[in-house]
Amino acid sequence: MNEYQIPRERMVQRLREHYQIRDERVLDVMAKLPRHLFVAEALKVQAYKDNALPISSNQTISQPFIVARMTELLELTPQARILEIGAGSGYQTAILGSLAGQVFAIERIPVLAKEAQERIQKLNFHNVTLRCADGTNGWEVYAPFDGILVAAGGPSIPEPLVRQLKIGGRLVIPIGNDQKTQKLIRVMRTAKGIQTEDFGACAFVPLIGEHGWK
Ligand code: SAH
Repeated sequence: MNEYQIPRERMVQRLREHYQIRDERVLDVMAKLPRHLFVAEALKVQAYKDNALPISSNQTISQPFIVARMTELLELTPQARILEIGAGSGYQTAILGSLAGQVFAIERIPVLAKEAQERIQKLNFHNVTLRCADGTNGWEVYAPFDGILVAAGGPSIPEPLVRQLKIGGRLVIPIGNDQKTQKLIRVMRTAKGIQTEDFGACAFVPLIGEHGWK
């Protein structure tokens, strides 16, 4: 049996039964992906708990539920081209890499970007490209995207991200008036403009950048 298989199965059971995650492909990937490899040695035993955990540079690896919910909201297909902003530990990046065709991930803190890159490489993801930059400007050369996932909370929807979304594409992002609490928003780009849906309260670290918090 794999190390941590039992806590990982319990985590998935909780996602299914308590949090009502319905996308079986998301649950399946989370049942396999070794989340403990994305946290510091001392935190490994806590990796499958129902909460966010600290990573370096005052940032966090998101709670499993929020990772599952955001992924589900993207409605990924195996061909999808996805942009992720705020790669952090790289855990969410790996989930996207397992379910989408191509993933372009951005992290603004160099040490986190480097560590995430190493983990992604070790786990043999060949469809993930990661860079260190301000993700609020998107990634023009690889646009347009079928989906964009932002794992940090901003004051408003960054305009470049909407522009880099395909018609029919989805942007999932926490938006809030202060730096501590947000609402999880899904933006759909249509031929006529954008439609937004609200998926409730959440708490992310701040999105810092040109089109985020200064
Ligand atoms: N999904 C990640 C979440 C990490 S926390 C995980 O589960 O590990 C959010 C991350 O967003 C932090 O690492 C932070 O440095 C990063 N971030 C904040 N503003 C950013 C920006 N403008 N561009 C890229 N990354 C940003």
